[in-house]
Amino acid sequence: ARDTRSIRDYIRTIVDFPHEGILFRDVTTLFADARGFRMAVDQLLAAYAGERIDKVVGLEARGFILGGAVAHQLSVGFVPIRKKGKLPGATISQAYALEYGEAVMEIHDDALKPDERVLIVDDLLATGGTAEAGIALCERLGAAVVGCAFVIELPELGGRALLEGLGHEVHALTA
Ligand code: 5GP
Repeated sequence: ARDTRSIRDYIRTIVDFPHEGILFRDVTTLFADARGFRMAVDQLLAAYAGERIDKVVGLEARGFILGGAVAHQLSVGFVPIRKKGKLPGATISQAYALEYGEAVMEIHDDALKPDERVLIVDDLLATGGTAEAGIALCERLGAAVVGCAFVIELPELGGRALLEGLGHEVHALTA
């Protein structure tokens, strides 16, 4: 019979990870499935058909898996945004709020050229804090953020409202 599973059917929920009370949406089962991974990349690309995109920027770590595949399909370069201390070259940093405390993300200071049009990719949009920091890093290098693309959004956590309120386009494949 024809396989009619949709993106959300490939994502599993892990209870109490990384700590008690959290329902963690696990995309490794989506990425591990040939059809699931293909669908995720294709659906993400379809949302930006006709847009000029010069680079794909992926957010550590699952944004690298998806963003790398998207960049390859678009025949454009891929740029990682990583947690503090992981990138070897000269970087600029951006702090952002976590549930408890603060974290810092970095990008190589020569990774984007002024006026390059970039697509930011990550697996999941929750509060939007991570993506907001990613946008800020791209914009501080002079790049224009075409959009922010995610496999999953958790609308009740307000990420879309935050990013759209800042004037950014948000696309998610499923909630
Ligand atoms: P935010 O900054 O929007 O609150 O959180 C989003 C970031 O945390 C993303 O980088 C995402 O990978 C990670 N994240 C938070 N919750 C989950 C989850 O339930 N599943 C997955 N796969 N990632 C999550």
